[in-house]
Parts: sequence; C-alpha cells; structure tokens
Amino acid sequence: MPDVVSLIHAKRDNTRPLTAAEISWLFAAYGSGEVADEQMAALLMAIYFIGLDAEELRAWTAEMIASGETLDLRKLNRPTVDKHSTGGVGDKVSLILAPLVASCGAAVPQLSGRGLGHTGGTLDKLESIPGWRASLSNEELIKVLSETGAVIAAAGAGLAPADRRLYALRDVTGTVESIPLIASSIMSKKIAEGTGALVLDVKTGSGAFMKDQERAITLARTMVALGVERGVRTRALVTRMDTPLGRAVGNALEVEEAVAALAGEGPEDLMEVTYALATHMLELVGIHADPSEAIASGRALATFNDMIRAQGGDPGAPLPTAKHTREALPAPAAGYITRLDALPVGVAAWRLGAGRARKEDDVSHTAGIRCLAKPGDYVEKNQPVLELHADDPVRFAPAVQALTGALTIDAEPPPEAPLVIDQVGA
Ligand code: URA
Repeated sequence: MPDVVSLIHAKRDNTRPLTAAEISWLFAAYGSGEVADEQMAALLMAIYFIGLDAEELRAWTAEMIASGETLDLRKLNRPTVDKHSTGGVGDKVSLILAPLVASCGAAVPQLSGRGLGHTGGTLDKLESIPGWRASLSNEELIKVLSETGAVIAAAGAGLAPADRRLYALRDVTGTVESIPLIASSIMSKKIAEGTGALVLDVKTGSGAFMKDQERAITLARTMVALGVERGVRTRALVTRMDTPLGRAVGNALEVEEAVAALAGEGPEDLMEVTYALATHMLELVGIHADPSEAIASGRALATFNDMIRAQGGDPGAPLPTAKHTREALPAPAAGYITRLDALPVGVAAWRLGAGRARKEDDVSHTAGIRCLAKPGDYVEKNQPVLELHADDPVRFAPAVQALTGALTIDAEPPPEAPLVIDQVGA
C-alpha cells in the first residue's frame, strides 16, 4: 500500500515518477481524509518544482475527472465546441463568441468559474444584466443549450470537485503557477463538461497569468495533449495580452462593449481575437460558415438575446452605471501611445471594485475603466487616457496609484503586431 510521505519524498527528490496506481490511491485517500491538506500541499509544492511527466499528468487529470460527474452532451443535435481563455484584462471574448459560434450551427457549452485577481470572470460580467442567472441545474443547462445553441453558466459543484479543493489549497500555498497543475485543473473541468471540441486561448504578456511566451506555449501544448488523449478535438491559440482587449474593463462596461461588438461595432483588436477563435471552433466541428456574416446579419446578436432571456435576463434592460466617473492617466507629452500596460489597468479596475480578492467577495457590476485612447492613438499633452468608474469615490485614489508607470508615449506609433502569436494542435 502506498503511503503519502514516500510519494512526497519520491517527487521532492525526483527519484522516480509516481505510478497511476499511486495517484489513484492518493486521490481516494485525500477524498476520505486519510491524506491531510498539509500533506497534499507538500506534494503540490514538490510538483511545482519538479513537475509531472506525461504519464503522471494523464493519471492526475483522469483522477480529477473521475472525482465527479461527466455531462453527456451527445444527445444534442448539433456538434459541441467550447472555448476557454486563461484570462486577461478586458477579455470579454466569450460573451461574443458563444452566441456567434452558436448562430453558425454549433452548440457551445460554456461552463465557467468566477474571476479572481486582476482578470475578470465571464459570470461576473453577465450578472450585470438584470435578472440573469448563472447557476443552472444540469437539466436546465442542457435545455438552454438545445434551445438557443449556447449556454454560459457556472460550472456545477459536481464537475471535477477534486479541482475545487486542490485549487483552494494551491491558492493559499503558492502553488498555482505550475504548468501541469494548471493544465490538469483547466482540462479536467472541460473534459468533464462533455464538449466534443475545444479551442483554448492561452494569453501571454503583462496582463496574463503566463507572462512568459515560452511558458505559455508549453502550457498550450500540455493542455492540447490532454484534450486529444481524452478524445476532445483540441487546439490552442497563444494570444498577446500586453494591453487591455477592447476599450472596456469591468463587468457592465464589458457587457456593453460585447453587445456593441455583436451589433457590428466591436473594436478591431477584440474582433481580431474573436474571429480567430470562432474560425478555429467552427473548423474543429466541420462547419463552413463566415463568422463576420453572422454578426453582419444580426444572427449572432439575436442568439445572444435568446441566451440571456433563457437564463432569466432582460437583454433590453439598461445596464447599471457607476455613480461616479473620473478621468485619469493624463499623457505626459503629446505623441503616440506605444504602451498601455494591461496589468496596472487590470489592478486599477479591481481596486475600483470590478474584481474580487477572495472567492467569497462580491463584485461591483458598475466599477471599471474605459480606455479613451489605446496604443497606436495620438494624444495631446495632458489628454486623459482612461476614464475610471466607481460607486464609491474613495476607490479612485488607490486605482490611480496602481496606474503609475502604465503609459508610454513616443514620437512614432508602435509597429503593428498580430495578436495571435502561435497555434498549437492539428
Ligand atoms: N484556471 C483554472 O481553472 N485552474 C488553474 O489552475 C488556473 C487557472
């Protein structure tokens, strides 16, 4: 019989890989309480430093999936395809993409978590729509999916419950930023959700979880391999996240921008990423459709409205707005913006109330930031680059403080660079 201390030693000293039987025993023993949180935390730290090889990772992910239920979406009369983003500042792509791809004939089961830290969560954004409900039973979500073609809802407690416990432990033990642990966490939930195909948007740059491009590519490869092994057609795009995506950061502000995008008025950078992901999603399920036509014809927006109504929301209701706004980040000189750093903008939006520090915290639906100018734009000296939104004016000072050093102005505009840096998967 394995004992956890010898598994910790083996991993810590990198003497041998853990066997599938040992990993299976570990998850069962952790579930029953025989392995304590502190022992699992020690093992996670050893994994953080040593890693997991492909066999170990396969077994680890399989145990995470087997810890809960798996949805069966095969009865739907459309092919299923989902998208997952590793999270960025102003990343409201899911809100546009799910109805867009659904309006082209696929079914998009988007089961999401909530935002943590400086990147916002899709559910928090949609909850700014009056009446909209994130929590659905499995029967309800399959009903919304078959009726509208898309559902964005909270991943139920039954999907990969081991991940919830492990993620909470990683969060408080400094072991989140490990490629095998991130890959198994994300992919176990997506595989358990039952999607047939998956496109991953792995963000890299200052506003992303993976700041380093090489590590982002490794994460993308690791996740694609896990998906493919489990029969999910999986591809990943590695995309740049150095500056906020679009012009809005914060919950209701991002919904407003997403709806404008569905109506054909989306900012160029946001649409570049959205169309790239949509094209790959449709390709993976063999649908030949032009996503830009789905927007131009109004079909994508109509699907969004159906999806919101099906979850109790009123797509025609005005979105809440903040009580106070304030201009910020004056340009220190006239010239072109060559850098508007995503991380400080994300942190400032979070300090204004748009994000949460702990899972239990509430978010403000109205707080956030509008970018009045973006990299490539010409600004005059002292022209404000951002507009801050908050319900409580005491939040402005800490937000402004976070923005120190966020802006670079030059005499020449920045070189044009594509947002999609790399593609992983067949
Ligand atoms: N998102 C997840 O779901 N899991 C991780 O480990 C990191 C980001």
